[in-house]
Amino acid sequence: MDDILIGSHVSMSGPHYFLGSVREALSYKANVFMFYTGAPQNNVRTPIEKCKIPEAIKLANENGIVIDKIVCHAPYIINLGNIDPDKFKFSQDVLKNEILRCEQFFCKYLVLHPGLHMHNGVEIGIKNIILGLNNVLNSIDTNVVVCIETMAGKGTEVGTTFEQIKEIIDGVDKKDNIAVCLDTCHINDAGYDVAKVDEVINDFDSIIGLDKLKVIHLNDSKNFKGAHKDRHENIGYGTIGFDTLLKYVYHPKLKDIPKILETPYIDGNPPYKNEIAMIKTKIFNEF
Ligand code: FE
Ligand code: FE
Ligand code: ZN
Repeated sequence: MDDILIGSHVSMSGPHYFLGSVREALSYKANVFMFYTGAPQNNVRTPIEKCKIPEAIKLANENGIVIDKIVCHAPYIINLGNIDPDKFKFSQDVLKNEILRCEQFFCKYLVLHPGLHMHNGVEIGIKNIILGLNNVLNSIDTNVVVCIETMAGKGTEVGTTFEQIKEIIDGVDKKDNIAVCLDTCHINDAGYDVAKVDEVINDFDSIIGLDKLKVIHLNDSKNFKGAHKDRHENIGYGTIGFDTLLKYVYHPKLKDIPKILETPYIDGNPPYKNEIAMIKTKIFNEF
């Protein structure tokens, strides 16, 4: 039996909050999961004391969830690429708060969209993102690792190539607090040939270093390579396909990296229990 780290995005809403997240992950037979500490579109956050964290951690530990590998996703409202001073400060404040919140959820990895350059160009965007990351990380002492996500290149998104991500990492002072989240749908849409699995992994290794890869978002894509769209598809139903995605799940070089599904709901229902079963059995089934 291959011991893969597989899970999905789960919700973290009332009345059970983090305990509900763990229950949801267990209902999918996952051993890792990803959550938002509140709504991704805003900055409203339930007080930590209400989030049922001790109960959640106890249940997780009793049922084989690997707490060291769970993942949080930072809210979308953060844009460290925005040079407007007020918005830049707001983004840094939200990111800092989110990092400190992660610690309280015993969550080590925080996935962050690098940002948008807002038509100022990629280089100015990257400079601003580096400045923002340093301002935040240098102001706190934390074990949380901010994982810069590879982006599809929709609009003015920064972080569409491994080279851009490497440039960001190079600019960050606290190397232990910065890493990468690779999203299979996003790199496909950004123009990488995802089917050439070893080529992608070797490319990542030579440009960034595989030691920096801490999270994989496992998604199929509704669009063709290089479409710059960012529309996720269910596993096996998109342009990447089941067999290729399985290669990422079971690749020996990616063994210790949690794989997180962010595929769309089907008729209002989460597909994750079925998708995880397909991945574990390595059999594509039209459930
Ligand atoms: Fe994301
Ligand atoms: Fe993603
Ligand atoms: Zn996406």
